[in-house]
Amino acid sequence: MVGKLEIKIKTLTPLWTGGVDTTMDRIHETGLLGSLRWWYEAIVRGLGGYACDPTEHKCSFDADKYRKSKALDERQRLREAGLCAACQVLGATGWRRRFRVEVRPLAGEIDFTEGMFPSGRVHYDRRRNYRVGGWLLRGGYFGNLELRFTGEERVLLCEILPTLLFIEQWGALGPKTSIGYGVIEIAEIKIGEQVYERKQGDLRIQLNELVSRKCQESRTGKWWWSRKSSPESIYQGVLPAITNMFFGKVRFGATDSDWWRNFSEIQWLQFGNIAEDEAHWTGEESQKPQGPYEISRILPVARMAHWIRRHHVFPLSPIIRTRLRYGGSDVASICKGNGESDWCKFVFGTVEGYGPICGYCGTRVREDRRVRNQWWCSSGRASLASDEIVFEGKRVQSKVRVSWAYRTNDNRWEFRLWGWLPEHTQSDNHQQQRGEFLHKLKQSIGFPSQLQAFTVCWFAKQKNEKPDDFLTALLGECRGQESYRDAESTGN
Ligand SMILES: [Zn+2]
Ligand SMILES: [Zn+2]
Repeated sequence: MVGKLEIKIKTLTPLWTGGVDTTMDRIHETGLLGSLRWWYEAIVRGLGGYACDPTEHKCSFDADKYRKSKALDERQRLREAGLCAACQVLGATGWRRRFRVEVRPLAGEIDFTEGMFPSGRVHYDRRRNYRVGGWLLRGGYFGNLELRFTGEERVLLCEILPTLLFIEQWGALGPKTSIGYGVIEIAEIKIGEQVYERKQGDLRIQLNELVSRKCQESRTGKWWWSRKSSPESIYQGVLPAITNMFFGKVRFGATDSDWWRNFSEIQWLQFGNIAEDEAHWTGEESQKPQGPYEISRILPVARMAHWIRRHHVFPLSPIIRTRLRYGGSDVASICKGNGESDWCKFVFGTVEGYGPICGYCGTRVREDRRVRNQWWCSSGRASLASDEIVFEGKRVQSKVRVSWAYRTNDNRWEFRLWGWLPEHTQSDNHQQQRGEFLHKLKQSIGFPSQLQAFTVCWFAKQKNEKPDDFLTALLGECRGQESYRDAESTGN
C-alpha cells in the first residue's frame, strides 16, 4: 500500500548536509539519506538482524534467486536474493529504495559562516614554522523543514519513522554529526491526512494505536511501537549497532548570557592568537617558535554571539572533544599517551589510516602465525577475522560524537554525547578496556567548570545486561532533572 508520511522538523543544532564543493547551497537529500541509512543499519544490527558493511558494497539483487526462492516471508525471500535488511529498504545494486523523499525548507536560513575554532594545540609546520590546530566550523541550516516521504506504507511507518524518532531522541541527522550538527526535534507528523503534534504529548503514545498493529512483522517497528524485541543473538562485530552504542545527555545551567565567553578558546578567538604559555606545542621542543601563535581564518566571536541570541546554540563540541581527548585545566584526559595513543586515535578518529588495525581497540595487528587468514591483536590477545580489521588507507572515523549545546524548554542548556565502541566478548582484555573507557567517559562529560549544576543522563549496555533490557531502556526518556537518572544503576 502506498503511503504518505510528512514530518516537520525543527533544528536544535544547525543541520549540515554538504553540497557542491564544500559549501552548502541548499539542504541536500543525499546527506540526509546517508545518515538515515547509518542509523537504520545500527538499529537492525542491534535488534539481531543483518545489515551489510556499506563500504564493502556487498549486496545486490539477483532476480533469478528471488524467483526461485521458496521462502514465504517477503523479507526472507529478498534476503535469499542477496539483500540485507538495510538494502531491502534503502536500495542496492539492482534494487530501488522503497520510498521517495523530498525536503522542503520552511521558516529558516542557511548560515554561510566559516572559520577556524582552535583546539589550543600548535603543530610544527615546515613552511610557516607552526600551524594552529582546530576545527573548521560552518554555519548550516537553522530553522524548520519538512521531510515528505512517499512509498510503501509498511516501510514508512515501521522502518523509517522509528529511525527518525530514535535519531531525535538520542542522536543527530546528517553527515557531520561528530562535530555536533543535526540535533533535531520532530514537531509534527502527518500520516495520510492525520496530524500528530509534539505539543500534544509523546508522539509514540499518540501514534501507537494506529501504527503498532501494522508493524508486528517488522523487527524495528515491533521494538519501537510495541516495546518487544528478542534478538536471537547479540551483534558481534566492529560496525555500529545500537547495542554497542552509548548515549548521553548533559544538561546544565548558565550563570548569565555570557557564560560561553569564559572558555579559553573564545578568548583566543577574541585576540586572534594563542599565548605561548597557553598553547600546547606538539612538536619537538627545539623547533618551538616564539608565541603568540596566530589563528588564521578565525571563526568570528560576533557570529557566535549572534547564534546564541538568535538560535540559542553554541558550538560546544570542539571544546568538549579537546578536553576529553587531551585533558585540560579542569579535567584529566580519558585516554593515555597525550591523546595520540593508538587507542585515542581509534576512539577519536584520525585522518590517516595507520592500519591494519584491530577493529576493537585500534592496536596494529599482524598476521596470526597459528591460524591462516586470521590476524593477531596483541593487546586484546585475540585472533581476528579480516572483517574485524580496519585496513590501511581507510579513514578511522571518530566513534565519539558530541553535539553543540542548545537551549532547552526549561531555559537550561543541553548537549549530547553518543557513539559506539564494538564489543568483543571473546576477549577479556578488549571487554575490560571498553568498560573502563565508557566508565571514564561518563564520569568526565559534565566537567568543564563553566558548566554549572549539570546533570547527566547516560545509557550504555552493561557487560552482563541482557540486550532486551537495554533495548527497552533506550525507549525511555530522560525526563526533567529529577529523572535524569543513571540507567546503569537500574541495569545491574
Ligand atoms: Zn546490504
Ligand atoms: Zn584489539
